[in-house]
Amino acid sequence: MRSRNPTDTCKLMGRLLMTRRHKMQRIQSFKLGWQLLNSEAKHLSISPSSLRKYSHGPGSFGLLFDIDGVLVRGRTPIPGAKQCFRNLVDRKGRYKVPVVFVTNAGNCMRQTKAEQLSHLLEVEVSAEQVMLSHSPLRMFTQFHNMCVLVSGQGPIKEVAENLGFQNIITIDMLRDACPLLDVVDHNRRPKGYVPEDKSLPQIDAVILFGEPIRWETNIQLIIDVLLTNGKPGSALGPLQYPHIPVLACNMDLLWMAEAKNPRFGHGMFLVCLESAYKKITGYDLQYEALIGKPSVVTYNYAELLVRKQAESLGWTGPVETLYAIGDNPMADIYGANLYNRYLQACQRARTRLQAKGSGKEAATSEEPPAMTSKELGGVSGMYGIEERLPESCRSVLVCTGVYSRDQQELPPDPDCTVTEQHVFHGHRDFRLDPSLTQPSFLVQDVREAVELVFQQEGCPLE
Ligand SMILES: [Mg+2]
Repeated sequence: MRSRNPTDTCKLMGRLLMTRRHKMQRIQSFKLGWQLLNSEAKHLSISPSSLRKYSHGPGSFGLLFDIDGVLVRGRTPIPGAKQCFRNLVDRKGRYKVPVVFVTNAGNCMRQTKAEQLSHLLEVEVSAEQVMLSHSPLRMFTQFHNMCVLVSGQGPIKEVAENLGFQNIITIDMLRDACPLLDVVDHNRRPKGYVPEDKSLPQIDAVILFGEPIRWETNIQLIIDVLLTNGKPGSALGPLQYPHIPVLACNMDLLWMAEAKNPRFGHGMFLVCLESAYKKITGYDLQYEALIGKPSVVTYNYAELLVRKQAESLGWTGPVETLYAIGDNPMADIYGANLYNRYLQACQRARTRLQAKGSGKEAATSEEPPAMTSKELGGVSGMYGIEERLPESCRSVLVCTGVYSRDQQELPPDPDCTVTEQHVFHGHRDFRLDPSLTQPSFLVQDVREAVELVFQQEGCPLE
């Protein structure tokens, strides 16, 4: 099945070169997508009544809230969350500082999540304040005209259309067109005569939005698509590797609902899919992009939403500090710290550029390792594309969700991902860097987190 002869090696080299060229093209289209998004965001509806100036103390900062395990457990609000949000708005219900909800959930629309939050927290939450794990896909315009297979649950076709995708095939549509592919559940096997597979367009890419309901169906059909180069109704030919692009949102292995112990997240589905692909082909499943916390692209997008809100609050200066409040060390804390590292790298790049312009030598300091394109969210070489970035992003860990104070420490050796005693719950393509899992602040709950942030900024919350 695997290509091994010299002709195939040449073909593989050719494909790798093509891949490199495509990667450059993708960076270009990503930059274009980013510019589009930026110009779109300029037109976000801002009601004239909300354009008022706030005196916001000595600092200028914004808040990023994770949702599950921080504000709610399942459908139950976490004690203190409602009071905390009452304190964050004035008498007219307007926010005192920019607030964005950054969740790795992805099986719904932003508007739906905003309505749920408004109901739970008893303050007005708009769709512009919510970002789901898939929100940055709006920037991946190079995929919007391709025929994409989408995996997840909920109104996934609507979600994909809303993000800009125009040619969408769901797993159910694929099952319907090729009824012989899904046979694990005997009750769902086709009964009686099975007609020829209906023709479907060739699938160009796979987008994994979130955990599906029937894992065995999705794993089988996605792997069929990868092995047949996007033509799952046809017989297997020589293996195409690298396979067609796969983009995945939400890498959370576990998340906290109402049960006493954490539940499987989409990250667990990815582990199963990766494992099945590797077992069958001997090759690693490759991701074109990994989106959602902890990837940097997620925080780039959240920062853009914070900036737009700051403008709508009448703030004229830049937002200098972001505080990211979360319950998951591998998603929220790792992501916020990785983004902070990215902000520092952007600052160094700008300093070097300025020094070069003035003919002076920039002072060199010890730098952390360069980020991989996976950590950045599927692109590379993006340092410094934005001029008005915050100075830092600080992470605040709460103890009301996945993390508990008595849980095991992470392994000290960065090369070690799994040992008998210690387990690394991050995604396969992210490096274990123990320093990134250490929060700037550790507090009991969200109320304490917000009070601490306002104290840090020198304007205690009333
Ligand atoms: Mg959480």
